[in-house]
Amino acid sequence: MLINSITVMKYKRNECVQNLTLGHKMRLIDIYEQLLEILGHQNWWPADTPFEVVVGALLTQQTRWNNVEQAISNLKEQGLLEPETLAFADTDSLEELIKCTGFYRQKARRLKNLAAYYSSYKDTLSDKPVDELRQELLGLEGVGDETADSIILYAINKPKFVIDAYTCRILDCLGLKGNYRVLQQRFESELEHDVDLFKEYHALIVEYGKQYCTRHRCEDCVLLKNGKTII
Ligand code: SF4
Repeated sequence: MLINSITVMKYKRNECVQNLTLGHKMRLIDIYEQLLEILGHQNWWPADTPFEVVVGALLTQQTRWNNVEQAISNLKEQGLLEPETLAFADTDSLEELIKCTGFYRQKARRLKNLAAYYSSYKDTLSDKPVDELRQELLGLEGVGDETADSIILYAINKPKFVIDAYTCRILDCLGLKGNYRVLQQRFESELEHDVDLFKEYHALIVEYGKQYCTRHRCEDCVLLKNGKTII
């Protein structure tokens, strides 16, 4: 009988759900170590400056990373990867430079606002308490939880765990469901608040998600082997 990949994946996921009652429980740090062993260090975020991280965090919304790389390269060529310059860039030209990332009109406007905020406060951002900084970022147009936390962690170097769609998917498979805040609190309460650990862990989750979840490699999923769940 010919079994297609979707059938295999459904079977595997059902098997995983059944195993949740049979398998043993893992700590989040165990998952981190397992991901690190399989994938190695990811060394995120790929950027030359903290402001490039800020720009990338906004541009990456609803698009692939290779489009973001193209847009960042365009901005670099035009000398626009400086907050003061970007904040006052010509809007039409900016839209053209970031067109490849989609929603370019909206993103150009939001990018200019974010650049203005960053240029006004860049010398004091790292002095702000994380929660205050997060609230300020969330108050900017187009900055949601994931974008704000990516900026806090990767540009400002403060410990805030980033949750993305892959994190939700993987934790769901491991028996842990919840909204952004619930999942974030789980990581932040269980792990040491170490910036490098948070950076590497999120990067590993994204890489695993790309290599396994997106490609429906559930039958090879090392995280769910032997019916593991999260404590
Ligand atoms: S590969 Fe991803 S989606 Fe598939 S079982 Fe593993 S964690 Fe779940």
